[in-house]
Amino acid sequence: MSLWQHSLTEIRDLLAKGEVRPVEAAQSCLERMEATEGKVNAMITVMADQALDQAKALEAAGPDPARPLWGVPVAVKDVICVKGAPATCGSRILENFKPFYDAHVVENLRRAGAVIVGKANMDEFAMGSSTEHSAYGPVRNPWDTTRVPGGSSGGSGASVAAGQCFAALGTDTGGSIRLPANFCGVTGIKPTYGRVSRFGCVAYGSSLDQIGPMARSARDCAAMLSVIAGFDERDSTSVDRALPDYEAACDARKDLKGLRVGLPEEFWAEGLSAEVEAACQGAVETMRALGAEPVPVRLPHNEYAIATYYIIAMAEASSNLARYDGVRYGLRDERAEELIDMYVASRSKGFGEEVQRRIMIGTYVLSAGYYDAYYRKAAQVRRLIRQDFLEAFKVCDVLAGPVSPVTAFVLGEKTADPLQMYLIDVFTNSLNLAGLPGMSVPVGLGRDSGLPVGLQLIGPAFGEDVLLSAAAALEGALPSLPEPAGLA
Ligand code: GLN
Repeated sequence: MSLWQHSLTEIRDLLAKGEVRPVEAAQSCLERMEATEGKVNAMITVMADQALDQAKALEAAGPDPARPLWGVPVAVKDVICVKGAPATCGSRILENFKPFYDAHVVENLRRAGAVIVGKANMDEFAMGSSTEHSAYGPVRNPWDTTRVPGGSSGGSGASVAAGQCFAALGTDTGGSIRLPANFCGVTGIKPTYGRVSRFGCVAYGSSLDQIGPMARSARDCAAMLSVIAGFDERDSTSVDRALPDYEAACDARKDLKGLRVGLPEEFWAEGLSAEVEAACQGAVETMRALGAEPVPVRLPHNEYAIATYYIIAMAEASSNLARYDGVRYGLRDERAEELIDMYVASRSKGFGEEVQRRIMIGTYVLSAGYYDAYYRKAAQVRRLIRQDFLEAFKVCDVLAGPVSPVTAFVLGEKTADPLQMYLIDVFTNSLNLAGLPGMSVPVGLGRDSGLPVGLQLIGPAFGEDVLLSAAAALEGALPSLPEPAGLA
C-alpha cells in the first residue's frame, strides 16, 4: 500500500508516531500528482518545492501533540490565499496575482502542522457546477475522465478522490463542496455561515460563501474542520461560539437510535434519476436499520430556491467583482488610452463568458428600475426558504435527500445551456440561502452509470457535530467505495 492510499486520520497517526516522516508523506502525494495530473487537471499550482521545504522544517522541529495535522499533506482551492503562491481563482484576470498573506484557514492549517501541496483548480470565481469554467482547463472526474467532477470545487474533489492529498479545502456558495464531493465519491461538509472565517478567501456571494473540508470520510472532515473553524475578528460575519469536539462526535455513536431524519417531499420528487433515488433510498434504509426514525417534512418554498439563489448570488458577485478593474490587481490591457477603455478592455479580456454573464445579470437585478422586482423580492423569498427549514427542524434532527438529481455528467453536456447547469443545484442552493450546514456522504455507486452517489445531510445552524456523527455511523454501516476506476 502506498502512503497516499491511507486516510487522513491514519497518516496523521503514523506521522505522530514517527512511523512515517513528513517528507515521505509529501513526496508520496507529489508523486501521485505527477502520475495523475495529466488525466485529471485538479491543480492550478503544484507547490512541490514549498511543500517539501515545509515538510523538512516540520521534521526538524519534531512531532508535536499540539499540532493535530503534523505533516499531513492537504490542498487548498485556488480562491483561498496562500502566501507566496498564485491565487488565480480560476481566472485570467488574476493570473499574476500572488497574495502576500495567508487566509485565516491557511494560517490555522499551518499552525496545525499541515503541509500545503497545491492550489486546486476551480470554476472561475467559483461560478459553476462542473469545473468546466476554469481558465486553466476543465477538471476531469477520476471515476471516468470523460465526465465532470462537479463544481465549483472540482479540483479539490478530484484531487482527494485521486489520492493527491489527504484532504482539500473547498468553498460552497450554492453547493460547490457538496456537488463535487457527490460526483467524486468523497465526503464534504459545508459549515454553517459564520462557523469558518472567510478572511483571505476571495468573495463570490458574500452572504452565502463558506469554506469547508473535503476528504475520504466524515472523520477526516472532522479533523480538518476542528482546525479551520472558530472565531476570527477579521471576518465580521465570524461567529464567536464554542467549538464542539468534531472527532469525538464521529466516535459518539455506532447506531442512529432516536435520530429523527426528515425527508423533504420536494427533494424526493420528479426529476430525480432512478439510480440516484435508489442509492439514496438505500442509504435511508440503512439509517433506519441503525435506529433512525424517518419523518416526512415539507420545504414548500424550495421550488423558488434556484431563482432566488441566482439573483442574490449574481447581485453580490457583480458588486464583489467590481474591484478587478486592471488598476490594482491582475491583468491590465495596456493598449487603451483612456481609463474607461482600460477598464473595459481589461475586464473583457480577463473574465470568462460565464463571469461576464453573471456580472451583467447581477448589475441588472440591482439597477434602480428593477431592484424591487428582483433583488428585493429574492431577499424576501430567501426569508421564507429559511423559515421552511426552521419549521422542519421542529420535528426532526437532520434532513436527508439527494445532492443532485443525476450522477456526474459528460464534459460539454451542459456548457452550451447555462440554465441546465444552474438546475443541477436544485437540492443544494436552498441551504446556503438559509445559512445552514450540509454534507455529502458517499453511499454507493449508481446502478446504471457505476458512478458515485452521495446522500445530502442537512443540519440546524451549528449542528456540524450532529451531521458528522450521523455521517460517521452511516459510513461505518455501508461498504466503502472501490478505488476510482478512471485512473487505472
Ligand atoms: N453552482 C452554483 C453557482 O454557480 C454554486 C457555486 C458555488 O457554490 N460556489 O453559483
